[in-house]
Amino acid sequence: MVDCIFCKIINGDIPSYKVYEDEEVLAFLDINPVALGHTLVIPKEHYETVFDAQEESFGKLSAKVAKVAKKINNALDCDGINILQNNGKASGQVIFHVHFHLIPRKEDDGVLTFPNVIGEKVNFEEIAKKISKA
Ligand code: 5GP
Ligand code: ZN
Repeated sequence: MVDCIFCKIINGDIPSYKVYEDEEVLAFLDINPVALGHTLVIPKEHYETVFDAQEESFGKLSAKVAKVAKKINNALDCDGINILQNNGKASGQVIFHVHFHLIPRKEDDGVLTFPNVIGEKVNFEEIAKKISKA
């Protein structure tokens, strides 16, 4: 049995502000929101990252992410939503129970910006081949 904060939230051992729940997923407000309505969508089945995911389960989870994104978009006065999903410490993952961040955005809110594109010359052919062959 893993000691997991999100499993405890699913089991009701840790309280949360739920916004959607069904047999397979739970969506609840992030305790440290970067924007009003910042929501996390998690599978009830515990797995750590996309690398551990059954592709079919991950597909079903993604469908529920779309459902919750539409609910947020209908409920809140937002101009857009970022959907983020971190995998591994280097990516910023802190809680190792797979989850999607849904972050409502307003025009020019400055909440999230991506750094400049990588400057060095990229060998696109080589990298595309490497990934497609893997
Ligand atoms: P990560 O960095 O792993 O992608 O994101 C984990 C998220 O979980 C963070 O945004 C953090 O604020 C949120 N979080 C961590 N602990 C709790 C908790 O106990 N309750 C809720 N609602 N969110 C949490
Ligand atoms: Zn868990």
